[in-house]
Amino acid sequence: MRKRIEDEFTHLRVSRQRKYQLRMQRERRCTECGEPAVQGSRCLKHLVKARERQRKKRGLKRRYHGTLSYKLEAAARSKRLRIRSRSSARRA
Ligand SMILES: [Zn+2]
Repeated sequence: MRKRIEDEFTHLRVSRQRKYQLRMQRERRCTECGEPAVQGSRCLKHLVKARERQRKKRGLKRRYHGTLSYKLEAAARSKRLRIRSRSSARRA
């Protein structure tokens, strides 16, 4: 049998899922998939997912573009564009 993880969360009276989230948070990893989190508590993919889930649930209409997940999305998008334009320049 696998040895139990012994750490500061072992004896907390919370669910296994919550302990997983706390451990991921401690190591600055995404609380849903365990990927390294850039900033905040989730990786970019799950940051966006959580944002859209909450919008739907709360029926919100506004988008706050100064917010972390939008900024990271924009950064990821421009990085992707830069790579694409570089390879097309090489072809020309
Ligand atoms: Zn994730």
